[in-house]
Amino acid sequence: MNKKVFTDATQMSGNRADADAIVVMSGVYKRFKDFEALKNINFRVGKQEVVVVIGPSGSGKSTLIRCINRLEEHDAGRIIVDGTELTMDIRNIQEIRKETGMVFQNFNLFPHLTVLTNVAIGPRQVRNMPKAQAEELALELLTRVKIPEQSDKFPSQLSGGQQQRVAIARALAMKPKVMLFDEPTSALDPEMINEVLDAIKQLASEGMTMVVVTHEMGFAREVADRVVFMADGEIVEVGTPTELFDHPQEERTKKFLSQIL
Ligand code: ADP
Ligand code: MG
Repeated sequence: MNKKVFTDATQMSGNRADADAIVVMSGVYKRFKDFEALKNINFRVGKQEVVVVIGPSGSGKSTLIRCINRLEEHDAGRIIVDGTELTMDIRNIQEIRKETGMVFQNFNLFPHLTVLTNVAIGPRQVRNMPKAQAEELALELLTRVKIPEQSDKFPSQLSGGQQQRVAIARALAMKPKVMLFDEPTSALDPEMINEVLDAIKQLASEGMTMVVVTHEMGFAREVADRVVFMADGEIVEVGTPTELFDHPQEERTKKFLSQIL
């Protein structure tokens, strides 16, 4: 049982004991003016681990994963991604962005670019890949998310589920060390949720390291190695799906689960 993970700070320090960690957060705080959105976050994602983050609206789930790829800057504590500590050094931030693939609730595709170009543009611009090679990679990834036939269309011509799969392909094109998903199915019509969850499950089965914020509890049960429950900017409880869903220890976890299950 590892309910209270990392009470020992030395476990979190990014030292050799953590050589297998892709993400390590230790004592992380994030404030928006006077509001503490993250309080003393201690969090670790091991290589090939799938961590699902759940919790009420406003509990800090998005802020947590946005800190991992520096869309938000933390105020205190340490964040180490694939062995590199996030500091003010801009070069280091660019490195981190290459290592983390992010998929948002609202897809965030480039509307004026075709599907193929949406996926190819990252490798071309950030990794200086030649056009033909980047497009070949893009087509391969679109095939992996099962929409190669949509390559020449524009995002607005696709369904929400298809757009989100393009967004997944686009993130994968950078060959990230970790994929971060922020409620990837929350903006989708119900009949499209499974096609996106299936794409994410497929990635998990291929060994991709990932952090997934989601309200899809069936998915969490099936795919998560660990489930993290957040409330009020804190990690309240961590466990395997069985531990967390069937035997929650903390009152706040029990209350949340009773409302959603
Ligand atoms: P969740 O994703 O769990 O719904 P968020 O991480 O988005 O929660 O937000 C946590 C808290 O931080 C919320 O109270 C939210 O209003 C606040 N917050 C998030 N982003 C900002 C921001 N840019 N400025 C001010 N407050 C913010
Ligand atoms: Mg959120």
